[in-house]
Amino acid sequence: MSDGASTISAESSESSQDAMTSARVVKVAVVGTGLAGLASAYYLATARNSGVQYKVHLFDENSNIGFDSSSVTATDLDGISRRIDVPMRSFAGGYYRRIISLYKSLGLEFHDAKFSYSFSEMEEESGDAKTYFLYGGRAGAFRQGGRPSRQASLRWMWDLVAVAFWYIYFTIIAAFSTPKGGVSFENEITPPQARHQKRFGSEEAQKKYGTLNTDDESSVEDDNREIESLQEFFRRWHIPAWFMHRFVVMLFSAMSTCNSETILNAPAADVIDYKRKSFGKPHYVLSHNSRSAVAALTAPLPKENIHLGVAVKAMLSEGTSWTIRTVEDDYHHFSHVILATAPSRIAELHRPLLPVFRHVKANSVRVVVHTDDRVLNFLESNDIRDLNLLKTSTGTEATHVLFPGIYQTTSPAPINGDCGEDYGGRIAKDKVVSESVFERVLRTNGLVNAVDKMRRRQGRHNVWVAGSWMWDGLVLLEGCVASAEAVCEGIRQKSEDLRVPLPKGIV
Ligand SMILES: Cc1cc2nc3c(=O)[nH]c(=O)nc-3n(C[C@H](O)[C@H](O)[C@H](O)COP(=O)(O)OP(=O)(O)OC[C@H]3O[C@@H](n4cnc5c(N)ncnc54)[C@H](O)[C@@H]3O)c2cc1C
Repeated sequence: MSDGASTISAESSESSQDAMTSARVVKVAVVGTGLAGLASAYYLATARNSGVQYKVHLFDENSNIGFDSSSVTATDLDGISRRIDVPMRSFAGGYYRRIISLYKSLGLEFHDAKFSYSFSEMEEESGDAKTYFLYGGRAGAFRQGGRPSRQASLRWMWDLVAVAFWYIYFTIIAAFSTPKGGVSFENEITPPQARHQKRFGSEEAQKKYGTLNTDDESSVEDDNREIESLQEFFRRWHIPAWFMHRFVVMLFSAMSTCNSETILNAPAADVIDYKRKSFGKPHYVLSHNSRSAVAALTAPLPKENIHLGVAVKAMLSEGTSWTIRTVEDDYHHFSHVILATAPSRIAELHRPLLPVFRHVKANSVRVVVHTDDRVLNFLESNDIRDLNLLKTSTGTEATHVLFPGIYQTTSPAPINGDCGEDYGGRIAKDKVVSESVFERVLRTNGLVNAVDKMRRRQGRHNVWVAGSWMWDGLVLLEGCVASAEAVCEGIRQKSEDLRVPLPKGIV
């Protein structure tokens, strides 16, 4: 076989059940145990109906599974111990169709979080924060919306009419206008079998998705895609700057944990696609936290195949297979390697991909879980909602009131001056439950073009890349599952007969 698969008899010691079958074994290493790595491992480990058996090994430098490694337990005001996902792991109906179908197939429970929102901004001159809008969402427009305490009634009514008008206008535009250069809409979900044929059936599709003949470097030409930015899209449709900044940019910069400038320059298709698909749909969270997803996704893997606290240091090519060298100088041999880490780490591990990821940018995002209610002092107590957004000169701070007395603040900002040890007296050190820093890939033109290039290189020399950023859309969990699906289809394509149906677990 082309991918250097070993036979089961050579590995019969791994499992007596395996030894009884005549399936070929294809060994796959997955580096990174975020959702992209976990989903890739799960899809392959459960693909067992084709005469090929995938033996998947997971590696993570973290001592816990990456998807849940920063989550914590804290005690609320009633003395109840609460498990908290860090960072937040919410997903919206309509947009996150792959994640929802994966979670459903795993039997995981999730529920409508019914978030309500407050919008505030820091006034440059006075340094005071001003709350300009409250939004009830699915929690109830009247119960959770309403007039911000410090806003005059007349002003509020005027704002309400203006916001309603532009919101309806924006919703109509988003429903009917497709931004230039965006291909987010190609991420439409189709039944796996049809997708399999669509992707690999035609020569054109093969070139585009790059999972066939990918070792043939000459078949791939690089061209940069021209993209209409969100700012250009808004200008084209004459949407006023105040609406764009105060609502659309504010929400998406909080979601993407980046500053306004990055969102304004991001592909308009990302935002419009999200808006179109998630309109009127609930925002879900897992009822039993990320732990439930980790347990279900790792269940098909033997424990000895999960290597935690083991950083992969290098990948060495040996003919048609790969040797992985870990930080402990252990060597493991595989047919395929899936790199499910941030682009910067991928480029370190596999130097040929360095030019692809050269223009990809990421930022560091701080998430603090704490019990200090002073963090919301900029709000009147009546104006506190589930998610409290504050626009500052550096970006958007978001404080999620998780349980009575427990807060999760993302990108905490200093108010009036230096952040210091306690964020300008807003979060006392002794009230901090956990403080984590995440690397978040930014959805810039550099990333869009890198993803296009990487897609064409997928599977070249049996190296594959998955991640929340490795698709055409906002850098969110849906991208993890979308890229994991594509990578697994590609590996199966190389290792199996084309027409083999995908296993039920994926449907
Ligand atoms: C503050 C914040 C809030 C967010 N909120 C949401 C949200 O509500 N909804 C949503 O959809 N998305 C959200 N996201 C985005 C989403 O959480 C991430 O995009 C996603 O989790 C990334 O998953 P991943 O599998 O691509 O990578 P990661 O989760 O980053 O996993 C990569 C793993 O690779 C490991 N690794 C790296 N190098 C090596 C090596 N050499 N050897 C071994 N292991 C290695 C790392 O330890 C890590 O565990 C949020 C992100 C942030 C930062």
